[in-house]
Amino acid sequence: MNPILELARPDILSLQPYQHAAWEPSLERMHANEMPWRASGDTSIAGLNRYPEPQPAELIAHLASLYGVSPEKVLAGRGSDEGIDLLVRAFCRAGQDSVLICPPTFGMYKVSARIQGAGVVEVPLLKERGFALDAQSVLDACRSGVKLLFLCTPNNPTGNLLDRGAIESLCEQLHDRAIVVVDEAYMEFSGAASLIDQLDRHANLVILRTLSKAYALAGARCGALLAHADIVSLLARVITPYSLPTHTIEAVLKFTDAQHRAESQQRIGVIRGERTRLSEQLARLPAVRRVWPSDANFILVDCIDPDRVLRAAASVGLIVRDPRSQPGLGSSLRISVGTTEQNDRLLQGIAQSAGAAA
Ligand SMILES: *Cc1c(COP(=O)(O)O)cnc(C)c1O
Repeated sequence: MNPILELARPDILSLQPYQHAAWEPSLERMHANEMPWRASGDTSIAGLNRYPEPQPAELIAHLASLYGVSPEKVLAGRGSDEGIDLLVRAFCRAGQDSVLICPPTFGMYKVSARIQGAGVVEVPLLKERGFALDAQSVLDACRSGVKLLFLCTPNNPTGNLLDRGAIESLCEQLHDRAIVVVDEAYMEFSGAASLIDQLDRHANLVILRTLSKAYALAGARCGALLAHADIVSLLARVITPYSLPTHTIEAVLKFTDAQHRAESQQRIGVIRGERTRLSEQLARLPAVRRVWPSDANFILVDCIDPDRVLRAAASVGLIVRDPRSQPGLGSSLRISVGTTEQNDRLLQGIAQSAGAAA
């Protein structure tokens, strides 16, 4: 057995997975208790009366080529949120094992751990160093029982990339102790290189990618978990049997073809340009204390009076994210980069609200 699997819950390793209806597209289906007709007006390719193929081969091959890995290293799920949940459920025994997170960061890691009854060890990012990873403290905190480390790069909500060398050396040093999960939900906006090329070197590395952000498919609910084939097979035992809806499968194949990939590239360029412009303009506003540099499609902004900025945004019909409950973010707001018109409207709204106060 791959030694990395020894980190998994023993009851998952010995689990007899659900036997779903065999996928035999050359035969007509009388084995899954489906209706033999489509609902009238059903324009899907496969027919919504049929259960979808579990981990559909065409979709998996497509995602594999999108991310430059071999298909056995890909698990497709309903967003990377499902990948996070599967990892926690497969590796953490309730009441015994823990996940390690580096706040301020994406909220789902902690929520999934809590739902599973796993512990949460927190090693904060170093705000005074631009929210850098405190790799030595992470390593020190990885005592027995920490099964999963969640590292988000670029990090949500701070926007910065984590040091790649530090992540690689954590993979190395924890190779027999913990799974290092690198959430690259915003990597496309960064221009930096993904850690995907490290998968062959580290059996304990898991990378989460999503179609929700750069590919404009948040409503389709599809994410890819990239990892050693043994981890992928393990998680495939835990995922619900027909997890990806037919609509999701067909939408992803359609909207990530060559033409849409080119469109996505072009739009990422626009977002990066707007990110620079919005950052510069925000920094000039008296209501803004600090704009953090961003490698993602959002900007973390420290405000003199965040409530006032929230009201100013709402007054021009916009909502921005309030992350103030997170450590170190007591005066911060997170702004997703919008269209030029939206960004201008936000800037104007904030500027006007300050003027009204004077
Ligand atoms: C948005 C986001 C996700 C969620 O992606 P889905 O694929 O839509 O579930 C995962 N991780 C981070 C850090 C995110 O910000």
